[in-house]
Amino acid sequence: MLALGSVTNLFDLPGLSEHALPMKSLPDAVRLRAQIIQHLEEAHTECSLNDRQALLTFVVAGGGFAGVETVAALNDFVREALRFYPNLREEMLRVVLVHPGAVILPELGESLGRYTQSVLAGRGVEILLNTRVTGVTTNLVSVTSSNSIPASTLVWTAGTVPNPLVSCLPCVKERGRVLVNEFLRVPNWPSVWVIGDCAFVPDIRKPGHSHPPTAQHAIREGQVVAHNIAAALRGRMPRPFSFKTIGLLASIGRRTGVARIFGFNFSGFFAWWLWRTIYLSKLPGLDKKLRVAFDWTLESAVPQRRFCCSAGWPPQ
Ligand SMILES: Cc1cc2nc3c(=O)[nH]c(=O)nc-3n(C[C@H](O)[C@H](O)[C@H](O)COP(=O)(O)OP(=O)(O)OC[C@H]3O[C@@H](n4cnc5c(N)ncnc54)[C@H](O)[C@@H]3O)c2cc1C
Repeated sequence: MLALGSVTNLFDLPGLSEHALPMKSLPDAVRLRAQIIQHLEEAHTECSLNDRQALLTFVVAGGGFAGVETVAALNDFVREALRFYPNLREEMLRVVLVHPGAVILPELGESLGRYTQSVLAGRGVEILLNTRVTGVTTNLVSVTSSNSIPASTLVWTAGTVPNPLVSCLPCVKERGRVLVNEFLRVPNWPSVWVIGDCAFVPDIRKPGHSHPPTAQHAIREGQVVAHNIAAALRGRMPRPFSFKTIGLLASIGRRTGVARIFGFNFSGFFAWWLWRTIYLSKLPGLDKKLRVAFDWTLESAVPQRRFCCSAGWPPQ
């Protein structure tokens, strides 16, 4: 059974593999956090006056879920950290979201996308719509709609592709993913099963469509494929995979969220609370759920210094 997932797609754009930070895994998030703190510390010193603008500009490419959640958290993080850097002022910061479409979060529909844009803009995020990043150097991000942006941080959330191993497999692909039947089995390769982001799983309720590559689907495909492999070994009937997306949620910073659940739109604190509660319920094990719930409750009563990274920090 193959469940190789996907990897970040940099579209071979100049400079991206050297300078852009992906946002795909926990180590990516840790690396971004460390880079932000490093750039704030460098910008704080007097000798970096020439580089200060680039050090204090943070560009996120891609206005989908990953990009919007990243830019919202990044924006809150840097603005909150500024009070520890007396040489830096809020006007020196630039946080920019670059999105190729007319409205961000297209999966949630236009009204939630526009709501999110106005919330982020109100918190100081610049949103460049109908714009693409075309390349990056150490301290410059090139975009299609305006002059290059002096920035030393580019976070890339603007695309994923199935794991490159998939392209070597001698089976039929659809949009780079392995085509499986409704039982998650590869036609003509009956002993091979594929699930998750690297599988093109037909939606039996909507002929011609496939299931989207999300964790919601991958987890349920895992349960069905386990049943079907056991059924194949025991000579029983396999079960077809069918699942309708329950909802889509995003946190957009400072206890604000947007959500579409069973076709109904939610925004603001309630959507953020839903987002937190649903993801809390997904954590494996009661002990982890309790630990995280306790930590969150404590954090809302006594906010901690989220950006402290080392002994002796923040600077006195
Ligand atoms: C920033 C971000 C936020 C997301 N948020 C959501 C969300 O809120 N809700 C949602 O439903 N989905 C979300 N997704 C999508 C979700 O993460 C994926 O759809 C899901 O993880 C796919 O599961 P998977 O098992 O196919 O792949 P993955 O979870 O990527 O797992 C693939 C695994 O295969 C391993 N692997 C790779 N190559 C090899 C190899 N050669 N040999 C052995 N192992 C290998 C990898 O290390 C990895 O552990 C998000 C994705 C991103 C990037």
